[in-house]
Amino acid sequence: MTLAMPAAKHAGEELRDSALRQLDSAAKALNLDPGMHQFLSTPERTLIVSVPVVMEEGHLEVFTGYRVQHSTGRGPGKGGIRFHPSVSLAEVEGLAMLMTWKCAVTDLPLGGAKGGVAVDPRKLTRRQIERLTKRYTAAILPIIGPEQDIPAPDVNTDDSTMAWIVDTVTMMTGRHSPAVVTGKPVELGGSRGRTEATGRGVAFVTLEAMKRAGRAPENTRVAVQGFGNVGSITAKALAEAGCRIVAISDVSGGYTSASGIDVPKAIAHVQSSKQRLLEGFSGLSKISNDELLAMDVDVLVPAALEGVITPANAGSVRAKLVVEGANGPVTADADRMLADRGVTIVPDVLANAGGVVVSYFEWVQSRAGFYWELDEVEKRLEIYMRRAMELVLSTSKTYDCTLREAAFIVAVDRVARAIERRGIFP
Ligand code: NAD
Repeated sequence: MTLAMPAAKHAGEELRDSALRQLDSAAKALNLDPGMHQFLSTPERTLIVSVPVVMEEGHLEVFTGYRVQHSTGRGPGKGGIRFHPSVSLAEVEGLAMLMTWKCAVTDLPLGGAKGGVAVDPRKLTRRQIERLTKRYTAAILPIIGPEQDIPAPDVNTDDSTMAWIVDTVTMMTGRHSPAVVTGKPVELGGSRGRTEATGRGVAFVTLEAMKRAGRAPENTRVAVQGFGNVGSITAKALAEAGCRIVAISDVSGGYTSASGIDVPKAIAHVQSSKQRLLEGFSGLSKISNDELLAMDVDVLVPAALEGVITPANAGSVRAKLVVEGANGPVTADADRMLADRGVTIVPDVLANAGGVVVSYFEWVQSRAGFYWELDEVEKRLEIYMRRAMELVLSTSKTYDCTLREAAFIVAVDRVARAIERRGIFP
């Protein structure tokens, strides 16, 4: 009898499994109650919705959407919405769980959630994307709200998507509802500094980790994978701090220059190109995204999608510091391989938490109807990032563990304590 080979794991399943294994290891270190461990391993609530959209030609197409609330133990759910063909329930569940830890590690009074629609937005017109967003919002309306669950932008969604969500909720409830989402346009109650917050936070923790390793920015070569919101702002902030950005990439491939890339010029190129891609950016050598990950650099920032560093390519990573700009770019097995080789990894739940920190500020501002100046936002962002970074570093010393394990220990402990203090209902 021949046994069928098990099917290869989908990247979303890999991400969820990684998140669960990280929880398991934190639970072990904390000697967590088995019942609490089980509670934290499962999402509190999952909603799967069908999203019909009438296309320009008049026919109907139906997409599948998800909203998952992993934990509301510390506050309302918080997490982005992504539009991507690979969106699956497993991926959304894994990302929702990561949001719980991210909000907890930065000590925000928020829980973790995530949403998404399995769709390739490049195949839709802007009008169709607006209709898709509004229908998806109407479908998840029963479980979102300023005191329930507050979405935000993620891959392929932006401030316009958030404006459409505000409009839908406002029209359906009859109440102006800016606090239902964060990442809104500033003219609609968005926070100053929100667009740059994630990348600035990634750059901040990168520079702090470099400082602790005794590495000066002038002698540091950096490769950044992904040149969207997170990757481009991270590259720009690190270049401003004196680092040499020697490679950048997006879905069109990688671009390298040993003498350093002019990041603002690359951003201007992307903004002026029809496809919003680096393609056609002149004066640089072209490489593949795989080659970028294996480059001889000091710092590698994967800031595109999850699951890009796996056991298959972890051995070829040469950077000594990997900073997870994206969510879940290093799989659990690859993480262990890199840690064994002495590579420091600043984990996603800490590294890219700047976005959710300023999202929290935006939620506070929208609820109060009082808006802060940019320097206020930036000053407070640094306070939150520094505090989280210092606690994770000291926890990694106390437990003699990696920064990822330390971040999970801090986060899981905070969430479990909050739930214990509340008591299990009823
Ligand atoms: P984005 O859509 O603005 O940019 C994504 C970038 O990745 C684009 O440059 C795209 O071309 C590139 N890309 C896509 N597929 C790729 C591939 N196969 N290889 C190489 N590059 C590829 O998205 P974003 O907001 O920058 O988010 C990037 C990552 O950061 C995601 O994992 C997201 O969940 C995470 N994140 C985003 C925020 C935020 O505030 N935007 C906050 C926390 C975490």
